[in-house]
Amino acid sequence: MRRVLLALVLLAAACGGSPDAATSTVATETTLVAGVQPVPVDLLDDDLMAELGAPLPEAARWQRPIEGTTLMGTTETVDPAELRLLDEAMRLLPANLGPLPRLIVRTPTAPPVPGRTDPSAVAVGPDIYLFDETFERDGLPIGPLGMARILSHEILHIAQFETLDPVHVGEALTLGFRVDLAKSTMVQPFASVTGWQVVGNTWTAPPDTSTEYGGTNPLEDMAEAVSLVVTGLGDDVPAKQRAWVEELLGDPADVLAAGMPWAPAGSTEVLSASPLYDEDAVTALGGSLSEYVVFTTPVEGPEGEVLAAEAQDRLRARGLTGSIGKVTDERIARWSGRFDRSDGIILWVELWDFRDAPGFTDGPEGPALSYVIVWP
Ligand SMILES: [Zn+2]
Repeated sequence: MRRVLLALVLLAAACGGSPDAATSTVATETTLVAGVQPVPVDLLDDDLMAELGAPLPEAARWQRPIEGTTLMGTTETVDPAELRLLDEAMRLLPANLGPLPRLIVRTPTAPPVPGRTDPSAVAVGPDIYLFDETFERDGLPIGPLGMARILSHEILHIAQFETLDPVHVGEALTLGFRVDLAKSTMVQPFASVTGWQVVGNTWTAPPDTSTEYGGTNPLEDMAEAVSLVVTGLGDDVPAKQRAWVEELLGDPADVLAAGMPWAPAGSTEVLSASPLYDEDAVTALGGSLSEYVVFTTPVEGPEGEVLAAEAQDRLRARGLTGSIGKVTDERIARWSGRFDRSDGIILWVELWDFRDAPGFTDGPEGPALSYVIVWP
């Protein structure tokens, strides 16, 4: 029997995590200083944005419209592939996600932001900054779904900025200090629902946060929760955070994840050097661009037939049309199927159950769920 080696590389746990300009770990009472006028945040007031530390980029050399916002660059020229990637990523996000960025700014390197430790992207006030590192992950180019995860995370930081306590904003302007996203009026309701607590000067995380990075502080936890839910991975978000996202955006998680891939709770996204799908079948779908995503699912999860049926149900619950069927493959227990979105995007789905894989000497312990996303 032919033996196929499978190389699977674990991805870093972060899903677009990126600390931002005004992220703080401190939550204190807001008290009105005499003579200070409350100032509501208006994302379209360029003068106010500049005063709050988010000036329009000085060295912009080009700009292009993109799905309700503007892509502006300080790089030499616009890269058509990046433009298309960002356009597709924005189109993947739900319309009610949050305030659209004033600008998406493409710079060669990350802007200098105090306390920033993650290179993927940065929200500065009403703008999202993207740079060379944003466009690749572990040496591979990022796809629209991966970019949608980054953008949705950063858009939540814009929502936090927009909901800053006007008293805090007024004080920051009058007294000349930097605004602190922890003064967003979104923070306290989120913290009380999910169990974040302030002890002394520091946030103490509840036992379950959306991701490890979400355990940094509630601002990141809520950004991670929203990002995972709207890109299809809501089953892995703790129930309290997921319920908060549903309340915030006004729809059940599967509606917010319309047209998105599904993976069961406890799954891990991996990079697979091997195509865990029928390459001929995917080629036959046509399309101009594809993205390949693989999740390893828990080894103690349901048997393959049951998991395949669950995947089919959940994809249909997300508005996709299609079905999964058993594939004859003597190497491994395997299922596959085509699912169509109403906008013409196709998800080719395969389930490879490595618990029943006589033809493989290597691979994950549990089943692998793979998606090839084909754009029309
Ligand atoms: Zn962040």
